[in-house]
Amino acid sequence: MAAEKFEFQAEVKQLLDLMIHSLYSNRDVFLRELISNASDACDRLRFEGLTDSDLLPDEPFAVNIHVDPEARVLSVSDNGIGMSREEVVHNIGTIAKSGTAEFLRSLSKAGDPKVSLELIGQFGVGFYASFMVADEVSVLTRKAGEIEATRWTSSGDGSYEIEATERDSAGTTIQLKLKAAEGDDAIADYTDEWLLRQIVKRFSDFVAYPIHLKVEGADPPSSTEPLNSMKAIWRRPENEVSEEEYAEFYKHIAHDWNEPLLHLATRIEGNFEARALLYLPSLAPFDLYHREMAHRGIQLYVKRVFIMDECRELMPEYLRFAKGVVDAEDLSLNVSREMLQQSAQIAVIRKHLVKKTLDALTELKESDREKYQGFWAQFGPVIKEGLLDLSQKRERILELVLCESTAVEGGFTSIAEAIARMPEDREVIYYLTGPSREHLVNSPHVEAFVDRNIEVLLFTDHVDEIWLEQNPPEFAGKKFQSVLKGEIDLGSAAEKERDETKREKDAAEFKQLLDALRAGVQDHVKEVRVSNRLTSSPACLVIDEGDLSPQISELLRRSGQKVPDVKPILEINPAHPLLLKLKAVCDADSVDPRLADYATLLFGQAMLAEGGQLEDPAAFSRRIAELMLDTL
Ligand code: ADP
Repeated sequence: MAAEKFEFQAEVKQLLDLMIHSLYSNRDVFLRELISNASDACDRLRFEGLTDSDLLPDEPFAVNIHVDPEARVLSVSDNGIGMSREEVVHNIGTIAKSGTAEFLRSLSKAGDPKVSLELIGQFGVGFYASFMVADEVSVLTRKAGEIEATRWTSSGDGSYEIEATERDSAGTTIQLKLKAAEGDDAIADYTDEWLLRQIVKRFSDFVAYPIHLKVEGADPPSSTEPLNSMKAIWRRPENEVSEEEYAEFYKHIAHDWNEPLLHLATRIEGNFEARALLYLPSLAPFDLYHREMAHRGIQLYVKRVFIMDECRELMPEYLRFAKGVVDAEDLSLNVSREMLQQSAQIAVIRKHLVKKTLDALTELKESDREKYQGFWAQFGPVIKEGLLDLSQKRERILELVLCESTAVEGGFTSIAEAIARMPEDREVIYYLTGPSREHLVNSPHVEAFVDRNIEVLLFTDHVDEIWLEQNPPEFAGKKFQSVLKGEIDLGSAAEKERDETKREKDAAEFKQLLDALRAGVQDHVKEVRVSNRLTSSPACLVIDEGDLSPQISELLRRSGQKVPDVKPILEINPAHPLLLKLKAVCDADSVDPRLADYATLLFGQAMLAEGGQLEDPAAFSRRIAELMLDTL
């Protein structure tokens, strides 16, 4: 059958363009990517073979690198699972990851090639890296259990060809027509035996299958010894494994090109045995927040035999960015996903891994705050998702939380640090949530707190509104209290009493004005009352204790839930000159029509001050314009 020509999906085209035109550093990784894919393919066939031994190859699993220096051709072959024609089209011609298009847009904006490499590494482009070193790439593959083979060929210029062909046995051969070794952007000579050995040793030593190298016409002939030691890195004593080896293994399993933040090797002993090697990435993958994110997550091995990628049972969602390997001694090799969900052993391992991960992060927070802050900026919002789950140890998670604070300029605080700064007898931790620090520190609600030197924690991630509003946790016996909510009593008992007496006095004095204002905005607010929290703003809106905050109502509404219509309370500042003037107007004539207008304006500007939206912005600005005119 003749070859058929196909266009790449637009995203693939863009990615190939980037690979070919803007990545010049660290091209060696193409080989690591090909070997990783080959080793994954062997893993998968070995696993299939557990239930259907007919699928297994006659020869032991292996990865073979073949080089013809004269023709400048390098190929990587495996006798793994192979691909059907449909799989080739799907796996190699398209990128089925959600968010790819937006990710690529941000990449091409970044412009700087070095930045791009880092970012592209997060994306995990694997196979396409071949186009950094080759003018033409072909894939010859036959799926285990099938007869027909498929050849895929492309020169990375927007299209590829596919034809049916033959292959002696199942497996895949990726063949690269290498670019010239010399050139403007000096590509290393990937036909050089010494260089290839070095790259394999460095990147792929732990691969579980022998990697052989054959160089055509080499003199003396290439050795038949494998290039890699094949030692499972998680079974080697920790002090014998170098940091670089750990890092390379991470890149292999995580398909991430960046260094990991940290690794932790751990063992579970007792009724059963398991070992784990976990990693935390330094940079968040681009699809961390996409629901169908391909968590490469944790791989499960049983007695060194690969069982599955992405074993989600081994980590809770809020730690979904952790990568690594778990090798259990006493599970059945035929364990299925369903069995995993019920396995008591898996539950114990998971608990152990969660504890180790949280311990390691707590440790990092104490020992290297700067590094930890970098980590938190990337993954904090995901970790905080754990606070929504009441079955988690929320206090442990809260220990890890960093946030901004009115008491800390240009930095972060932990909750424990905030508690250490507050008087012992204060029972609550005050907080406010919103889109950014700037937004929050200028909020009228924070005023009274800042004036009295009372710290307010500022939470600026979406998830914060949810965990703080629905089932807020306690920390060290202290409750979280929003500065937006309820009546606030600040200061000592004596101060409180003084405040309360003053407020009662104000309320009595302002009664007539309060009534007049209430009449003006009764459709929009629950109540108008005198505030003791404001110092420089004339008015603010507060939420009654027990009512949903506007942000939460909005979130719930957007997710399709029915939310009761909650009206806020308008609090006015009795010491503000504007209110004093209004009081004078009201005292002179309690039905002066300007009072209702001013009530609407006060309500409107209080709404704007907290970043809310006006129901009728046009009417509001008309009133302002009239007012401006009047005062000229
Ligand atoms: P990734 O490995 O990160 O998924 P790649 O672009 O490297 O991305 O590969 C895409 C897919 O193509 C792989 O997920 C796998 O399904 C398939 N594939 C690549 N190489 C091989 C191979 N040697 N054998 C079988 N399948 C392969």
